[in-house]
Amino acid sequence: MAKIRILPEHLVNQIAAGEVIERPASVLRELIDNSLDAGATKIDIDLEGSGRELIALRDDGIGMTRDDLLLSLERHATSKLTEGANLFAITTLGFRGEALPSIASVSDMEIVTRDEAASAGSRIHIIGGDIAEEEAVAAPRGTLVRVRSLFFNTPARAKFLKADATELSHSIRTLRTYALAYPEIAWTFRHGDSLQFAWPQTTLMGRVVDVFGAGFDEKVLHIEHSLRGVRVHGLLGKKELNRRSRGDQFLFVNRRPFQSTSVAGVAKGALRDWLEDGEWPFYVLFVDLAASNVDVNVHPAKREVRFSDERLVNAAVFEALREALKEQQTSLSELRQAWAPPPQTESPPELFDTSRAQSYSYPPTRPALPVIPDPRSAPSFPSSPQPSSAILRAQIYQVHSKYLIAPIRSGLAIIDQHAAHERILYERALRSFDHRTFTSQQLLFPLLLELSPEEDASFQEIKPDLDILGFIIRDFGPRAYSIEAVPAGLRRASEATMLHEMITEYEEFRRARLGPRESLAAGFACKAAIRTGDELTQEEINSLVDELFSTQQPGSCPHGRPTFIELKLSELDHRFGRIG
Ligand code: ADP
Ligand code: MG
Repeated sequence: MAKIRILPEHLVNQIAAGEVIERPASVLRELIDNSLDAGATKIDIDLEGSGRELIALRDDGIGMTRDDLLLSLERHATSKLTEGANLFAITTLGFRGEALPSIASVSDMEIVTRDEAASAGSRIHIIGGDIAEEEAVAAPRGTLVRVRSLFFNTPARAKFLKADATELSHSIRTLRTYALAYPEIAWTFRHGDSLQFAWPQTTLMGRVVDVFGAGFDEKVLHIEHSLRGVRVHGLLGKKELNRRSRGDQFLFVNRRPFQSTSVAGVAKGALRDWLEDGEWPFYVLFVDLAASNVDVNVHPAKREVRFSDERLVNAAVFEALREALKEQQTSLSELRQAWAPPPQTESPPELFDTSRAQSYSYPPTRPALPVIPDPRSAPSFPSSPQPSSAILRAQIYQVHSKYLIAPIRSGLAIIDQHAAHERILYERALRSFDHRTFTSQQLLFPLLLELSPEEDASFQEIKPDLDILGFIIRDFGPRAYSIEAVPAGLRRASEATMLHEMITEYEEFRRARLGPRESLAAGFACKAAIRTGDELTQEEINSLVDELFSTQQPGSCPHGRPTFIELKLSELDHRFGRIG
């Protein structure tokens, strides 16, 4: 008697299910693939018990006739590969005709569907691969698939499932991945009774905000590059999105999610100057190329692909990311260039009027201090900034006593006046520590400073450095001091509260593990800088921008917040519908 037997169909399907269907998220993925292939514009997903109890998906795609529905449950039945079609040029997400029979063989599954041309819909109920019911029903166009009790008849597989929270997070990751690749589709996602996501049709940028939160669109750079028939596009997270944990990298080939250690490695290489040790970047990267140049039939769950020219794809990804970085850097150097003060032989321009104050080297010789007017009554910016750079320069406007708006070649730069001044003062304070030169201005009426015991402890720590910054403070009794001079040119120099606030701010920066001098410089910068609501003259505006772009790191204030953002012409054109 022959020992070799052909396996029964239901076992074949269960074996296939073992490869294709690992967990609820893999069911979700296969069902989403089918809905996308069916041309859906709206996909509603319902999970119960993290997908163990129920995974349901409804779409408004082309649906199936009764005959197609019955066929769809047969192994190797697919509408997507016809005779003579090329297995090596696949443009649909599915092609093997394996998913539905596999899922059906390990669950309790129900499909309700109606083809657009059919007057009635069809419903089928399959338990462990056997048809339990089949009937005509009223149904909207499209398809509803309900998968209950996954792996009920394959307990060994059920055992491999992880904790509910883990399984749910796999499903959510699957949903987010597809939602990013298909922003033109409206998605809803429910778990039990709670609506988790409802994302309307939008653009990629709109979807990124849906998925990652408001303001996320400002934390990403555009990627767009083509190399010999390979187009790489998408979004790269700015530095602030780099993470110590693996974080979020999304890769798609012809909008099919895939994983590739080789592409991920190339991306990391391209971004190496952008990443600290052990950091991972954020990106959403689409690789588009002719279907005949990518083999999607190499992994059972279609998670990996093979490129006919892998080196070309790697090169395209590498160049695309380098270009995105370069663009970011050019905008900074363009801004620097636009405002570069004329070459200087002396120290960089000061934002403050130093004409009324005197420079000293440290330590100060106190008796020599001249008595000068209270700075409250005098303008605090230079009366004549660099005239030549002012004529080169485009008009800069102050709006809402808060922002400065400047046209630049690539669009508009919008500067936060407070953050910009903070950056300037911070670097200026650090320079003072290094070079021990300062400018002081004597107060007409010394201010009394009384400190709590806690404040006093911090004050003692920073006292020598306050002297270097240009403060002259004398003891005036227990925890009481007299402020006799302050750094020159501060708008708020005479407010006694400033020192209290500086001490608090200093303590906060110390807690954030900044060094003592950096903390003092940052606290000083924060409290002495011009604020929202301060009206600036044109000269003050010009001087502020000049100085900002001659700092070491003009892009952010000491708190790490941006000092300016750029609104690109391309973005404006896009928003006004000038380009497709
Ligand atoms: P494949 O997607 O590889 O073709 P599946 O087993 O996933 O294999 O699906 C079998 C067939 O069932 C598909 O080729 C398609 O014709 C049909 N089908 C499955 N899901 C849907 C759906 N949501 N809408 C319309 N047709 C579907
Ligand atoms: Mg399929």
